[in-house]
Amino acid sequence: MREPFICRELPPTAGLPLYWRDFFGPEGRPLEDGLVEFLGVPAVQLECSGTSGLVLAFEALKRCSPRRTVVLPGYTCPLVPLAAARAGLQIKLCDIRPDRFDFDLSHLSAISNSETLCIVPTHLGGLTTLLPGVLEIARRVGAYVIEDAAQALGATWNGRPVGTFGDIGIYSLACGKGLTLYEGGVLVARDESIRTLLRDISRKEVLPHRWMEWLRLAQLFGYRLFYNPLGLWLTYGLPLRRWLKRGDPIRAVGDRFDEDIPIHPLGAWRKEIGAAALERLPAALASQRERARDRILQLSKIAGLRVIEDLPEATGTWPFIMVLFDSASACRRALSRLWPAGLGVTRLFVHPLTGYPQLEEIVPRASLPHAESFAARCLTITNSPWLTEPEFQSIWEVLADSAATPERRS
Ligand SMILES: *Cc1c(COP(=O)(O)O)cnc(C)c1O
Repeated sequence: MREPFICRELPPTAGLPLYWRDFFGPEGRPLEDGLVEFLGVPAVQLECSGTSGLVLAFEALKRCSPRRTVVLPGYTCPLVPLAAARAGLQIKLCDIRPDRFDFDLSHLSAISNSETLCIVPTHLGGLTTLLPGVLEIARRVGAYVIEDAAQALGATWNGRPVGTFGDIGIYSLACGKGLTLYEGGVLVARDESIRTLLRDISRKEVLPHRWMEWLRLAQLFGYRLFYNPLGLWLTYGLPLRRWLKRGDPIRAVGDRFDEDIPIHPLGAWRKEIGAAALERLPAALASQRERARDRILQLSKIAGLRVIEDLPEATGTWPFIMVLFDSASACRRALSRLWPAGLGVTRLFVHPLTGYPQLEEIVPRASLPHAESFAARCLTITNSPWLTEPEFQSIWEVLADSAATPERRS
């Protein structure tokens, strides 16, 4: 597939676009109140990013227990181990189930013990991860559960929002994760005592930064200006194709991060902007679900790949559709044509956590065959409303062609 001739680039996820009236509109109800209602929780705590929320969550649990080990899925965002390291925790990696991103429960059971401070089940791509077995193992070994719902604000399991089943839940308001303040994070906690602890730690340790809020505001203005197919061609497409040409997929997906995690308060103006945008989130999620349903049906007709679907009792938010090929070579064939094509096809995480040179010092060596295989066979298709039906058809054809075995291809 040729590089797009017109200057058009689709975002890799269905982010919620902002309106100018979100910036300058009348003051509505506070973002905290909107999120309390949206999530059906007694209180939320806003922080400057999902990662900083995780650091605070780890710090809070450290005050509840002398244990110092955290169990993370082998396939997740590289920021999560960076947050654990920042909190001074030892990391243990657990493999995922074959062909899904949930914890492999037999591995989880084997590595969780009386040293485990917490286990971090992770909801990816707006889909719910399987929780019951994880909650059970955590209870058995006396570990806390932090639900990483960074990518799943609005997803539910048995009608209740994910992030509210564990002891602590975190959501990200980063660019591309749905509702966005460019960077932002939301913390929820089940017990009043942990909520108090989280608030106390935040009050004492989250210190104002002289210019960080100005930078984030400028970035959020940039998001308002450039979050459209033309703006994305400039700000996302051009650098993406440059990193791909240089053979650096880690930078192409944005999996390389600053190790110094900024921790500062979330500014009042950005909260107001988020509060205004939150009013549109439920409707945006509903239409995302509908669009995903149609497209999953079409993708299911291709032999040699499958869509990662929701659990039976779950309702996902579908910011993108995760496609898993039977073979890594078929996935590579599809990516070589679709990744640079401007159609919103990309990869979620390029490697399991053991595959990033940047994390070498903090994550232990571990054998993670399922995570390895998942990372090599998975690509994602944007569920942005800007992806037109003809564009989706052209993606479909490349996927079908790539998935076909060499015998069938000839
Ligand atoms: C993005 C992400 C985070 C971190 O959230 P930020 O708001 O970007 O700091 C944590 N976990 C997962 C699974 C993520 O995708």
